[in-house]
Amino acid sequence: MQQTDAALRQYYGTFNKHYFNGALPTGKGLDIGWVKRDRNGDEAWCYPSENPVRVRLNAGLIVTVSQAAMALLHEMAHIAVYMQGHKQAKHGPYFQMEMLRLAMAGAFRIYW
Ligand SMILES: [Zn+2]
Repeated sequence: MQQTDAALRQYYGTFNKHYFNGALPTGKGLDIGWVKRDRNGDEAWCYPSENPVRVRLNAGLIVTVSQAAMALLHEMAHIAVYMQGHKQAKHGPYFQMEMLRLAMAGAFRIYW
């Protein structure tokens, strides 16, 4: 994946269609892009409660396509869990279940 916002949005769109039934925010409901900073070392983060939902990947830490895809799917899982009504889920059971669901659907197959 090129580290461009357009490439990131394209990956998001593909993952959304394949693994989330197209249910995650798109178009004007989504503000997605790369940033180049440490932010306490986080690779990526998202703000599902905002409108548009904001997703950021750290170009200073993410180098490979696998890293980018895994980080993006991780953030998309947060958004999905939030949309299911589990607004304080963090990395607890609801998030873990969503990641397992993605794994079973083959989302990580070529990345891990
Ligand atoms: Zn997380």
